[in-house]
Amino acid sequence: MKIASLKKIKILTGKTILLRVDFNVPLKNGKILEDYRITAGLDSLKFLLAKGARLIIVSHLGEPDRVDVKYSLKPVAARLQKLLKQPVKFLPGAIGLKTAAAIKKMKASDIFMLENLRFNQDEYKNDSAFAKILASLADLYVNDAFAVSHRAQASVAAVKKYLPSYAGLLLEKEINALNKVLKPQKPLVVIMGGAKIGTKAPLLDKLYPLADQILLGGALANNFFKFQNREVGRSLIDDDSTPFVKKFFNGRRLASKIILPSDVIVADAKNRARFKSVDQVSATDRILDIGPETIGAYAGYIKKARTLVWNGPMGKFESDSFKHGTLALARLVASRSSGATYGIIGGGETVAALALTQMAEYVDWISTAGGAMLTYLSGGKMPGLEGIVKK
Ligand code: ADP
Ligand code: MG
Repeated sequence: MKIASLKKIKILTGKTILLRVDFNVPLKNGKILEDYRITAGLDSLKFLLAKGARLIIVSHLGEPDRVDVKYSLKPVAARLQKLLKQPVKFLPGAIGLKTAAAIKKMKASDIFMLENLRFNQDEYKNDSAFAKILASLADLYVNDAFAVSHRAQASVAAVKKYLPSYAGLLLEKEINALNKVLKPQKPLVVIMGGAKIGTKAPLLDKLYPLADQILLGGALANNFFKFQNREVGRSLIDDDSTPFVKKFFNGRRLASKIILPSDVIVADAKNRARFKSVDQVSATDRILDIGPETIGAYAGYIKKARTLVWNGPMGKFESDSFKHGTLALARLVASRSSGATYGIIGGGETVAALALTQMAEYVDWISTAGGAMLTYLSGGKMPGLEGIVKK
């Protein structure tokens, strides 16, 4: 794999860089709730500034369908300024002649930040004219926004037609980490749970041949129970999943690498948490976590793995009664990752569950790029990487 790394740019002094980042942080009433995405993106910024480049930082925030102050990047620019201890000039309003005039006056190591790219619908449409305007502001383009690189949008895709384009340091790290899953040290153990089987199906397909075991949990596993004609009561099921689940069965026999829970925790008719073997689930039960026997069995596989990949919680971990399976596996994955095993965790809710254990620092790679990570690992199209990452 060849990556057009930012580190390979020969001359940066005096150059103006259009740096596409993913500073899509959670906001509430204009306050940043959590700034991990900003801090994770600082490496590229610092690298470029140290070499005397001028930076134009562009990002999206949320999915606005028009100009909407709720989604302004102004608070993000203020936070960035604080983190860098250096002025960050925020240029509000649409990108136009005023922006270009301000940029012309930039000095070495100046930082400008433009308003939310998605205030312009042309961003979503991967519009060439809009991409050209963006490109006209700079000499070079750097994509450090892996999380949106599965989207054909102007600031990650079309813009590359108009400028010499490079990969940012965070994007490069993300790709190197994900490649360790695609060429894994064996045994590779994949843990998958969560709710949206549609988004996980391509990943399961792709990782099945590479993996030694795939440990299932969460609502994902319910679909497999249902296919086995087991009682799943009022559990969350995706009725469209049958053709996909069927692929992992030979008649009634489950594919050997797929491991299902042997016991679960349900909410019963009175909403009480109850242990049950998977044969004891009743019509009024709702399966909401994996049980202790399953945790023990999964721990055995996790301990033997040299590569661990986890996406999707094992249960409804947002509720105290049903968080144990997810937290137990999070601790196991974190503690194995602290040693020789390479551990990678991705997905919004999965990362949130890991944070609850306060063991996130032990994990080799944490991807906040949910959809992009799934797309990359499952071999899908990545318009944001075309031209800067070659197989
Ligand atoms: P991620 O964001 O990590 O990729 P998903 O979005 O696929 O994960 O799913 C996370 C959600 O799945 C969590 O909010 C969790 O409560 C829910 N979930 C997991 N297991 C179950 C279950 N058995 N029943 C209902 N919801 C579940
Ligand atoms: Mg999610």
